[in-house]
Amino acid sequence: MSHVALITGGMGGLGEAICIKMAALGYKVVTTYSPSNTSAQEWLTKMHHLGYGFIGVPCDVTDYDACKACVAQVEKDVGPVDVLVNNAGITRDITFKKMTKSDWDSVLHTNLDSVFNMTKQVMDGMTARKWGRVINVSSVNGQKGAFGQTNYSAAKAGMHGFTKALALEVAKHGVTVNTISPGYIGTKMVTAIPNEILESKILPQIPVARLGKPEEIAGLVAYLASDEAAFLTGANISINGGQHMY
Ligand code: NDP
Repeated sequence: MSHVALITGGMGGLGEAICIKMAALGYKVVTTYSPSNTSAQEWLTKMHHLGYGFIGVPCDVTDYDACKACVAQVEKDVGPVDVLVNNAGITRDITFKKMTKSDWDSVLHTNLDSVFNMTKQVMDGMTARKWGRVINVSSVNGQKGAFGQTNYSAAKAGMHGFTKALALEVAKHGVTVNTISPGYIGTKMVTAIPNEILESKILPQIPVARLGKPEEIAGLVAYLASDEAAFLTGANISINGGQHMY
């Protein structure tokens, strides 16, 4: 029986590549999407035409009860969740001086509370079955900070502490918990940055001299989800074209 992989935000730039990679490896792939996402059905239909039988479940990852209901539905309709990829995230970039409480809360709730909300629903099952993988998608900006991102950098850095603490608690039960920290990847989150800033400020920071590809992130996620990665836990893996070596 194939493993079930649940990917939050699987319809986004990185998420789609992760869904495709996991499907290619034989996982049953379930993705969450925001209840407000009006193009979700269109995306699922497009993917079905391409041969991917992804299952989409609406779930606001900031809402604990919605996450509980989402995982209960997945377990009933598809099976127990073996791999959880906490990938959903947002930015609300603005300097600290101008940042509102709402800018702070929305980023912390979506990027960090979501990790608790989703992981809480799957962990007892994973430890009982003695196998599980939790992969948290952080960011280079959670490692080194970024101008205009006190909210995002704090949320993404919080994932690292969560990962290490939980990895300690569940290691002996066959469950690994890891974080990956991508640098700049060519998804809409990054291509929304004005071109002149991309070319003058961002690309010069990247020794590989290009943006990363979503498929490169998906390959790392797939490795962390594999049996071969059973001895790798509590880690944060940088994947950033050499931008930040830490
Ligand atoms: P996208 O904006 O393309 O995708 C983000 C996804 O998050 C969307 O699918 C969105 O779902 C989902 N999402 C946002 N809010 C909610 C919510 N409240 N409930 C459920 N789902 C939600 O971004 P990327 O693919 O670029 O980013 C994916 C992850 O990678 C993020 O965590 C991001 O911080 C991180 N990252 C990205 C980098 C990059 O260069 N792109 C670099 C480093 C880290 P929906 O569309 O249905 O609203």
